Amino acid sequence: MFNQGTALSMEDAVRLINAFNNLAEKTSSGAFEIDFTRSKNSAQRMTHEIYKLLGLKTKNFEYWFPLSFNPWNEDSKPVIREALLATKNRGIPYCLELQVTTNKGRKFWIHTTGIPIIENGTVVRILGTIQDITVRKELEEKLREEGLTDGLTEIPNRRHFLGQYPVEVIRAKRLGVPLSIMIIDLDNFKKVNDTYGHPYGDDVLKELGQFLGTSRRATDLVNRYGGEEFTIILPSTDLTATCKIAQQLVEKFRKIKFITPDGEDLYLTISVGATELLLTETSDDLLKRADANLYIAKNSGRNCVVCS
Ligand code: GH3
Ligand code: MG
Ligand code: MG
Repeated sequence: MFNQGTALSMEDAVRLINAFNNLAEKTSSGAFEIDFTRSKNSAQRMTHEIYKLLGLKTKNFEYWFPLSFNPWNEDSKPVIREALLATKNRGIPYCLELQVTTNKGRKFWIHTTGIPIIENGTVVRILGTIQDITVRKELEEKLREEGLTDGLTEIPNRRHFLGQYPVEVIRAKRLGVPLSIMIIDLDNFKKVNDTYGHPYGDDVLKELGQFLGTSRRATDLVNRYGGEEFTIILPSTDLTATCKIAQQLVEKFRKIKFITPDGEDLYLTISVGATELLLTETSDDLLKRADANLYIAKNSGRNCVVCS
């Protein structure tokens, strides 16, 4: 844009500053500088947009802030401090997307970068940017949830399962750790719909989804596979442990009291087919075996677990 050495006219400088301010406002992004060559009491500077992001009032505007000025709350401080220290001490630039809370309690998502300015082998300044990306993050989260969450039960859906399951199988094989899955199916559910109506059936499915979602261990992945069928992927879990968990689910579920639209008590049951991954088989083989076990459970009178 400029030939090196050409002085910038005052008019150009003002035009550029205005253009940058305009751009900064439109993109909700601001810049900051931490200057380690200055006194600790006047080491940080930031542009107008960062003041706004931090919720600082215009009347609080100060040209420089002390090095100790830290606008983030305790949750957000460590990760930002670590990034700044790595840049200062080792000259490593950073580029982060994270959710932050200011010490005034404002919570939002930022994209932030920091680059070191090095003179004579020492980092003398850090130049950085902070951009508010909350709108994009919220939209991404909404799309993600809408696409991968089952609308009725609000637990992950079949698409989620089909994305996650092969990844877990590959991981288990690579690490040589066990992996099990189970398929859970409501018994005689058609009768529930036929007797009490489809909306009541929906409520039962919601309850089952919630039951499975809250009964799972933190690492287990529960999905609504379709209709009244659910799957659970159990990483690092062998067949013995899986059978025990499946058995507990069957026993706990049959004790849940549903109230019919006529005010009667209703008890329902589930059947489970469970199996553990063999190193030689594919994710499809594993799913088929779990399904075959579910079929045996149904043929053995339901309300039970078949593991093999
Ligand atoms: P089994 O014990 O052999 O599993 O018998 P079942 O009656 O549970 O199985 P079947 O496959 O005959 O019927 C499943 C029923 O689930 C039929 C279908 O209408 C119902 N269903 C599937 N999805 C939904 C849903 O989202 N809401 C409601 N209310 N019913 C559903
Ligand atoms: Mg069923
Ligand atoms: Mg079924």
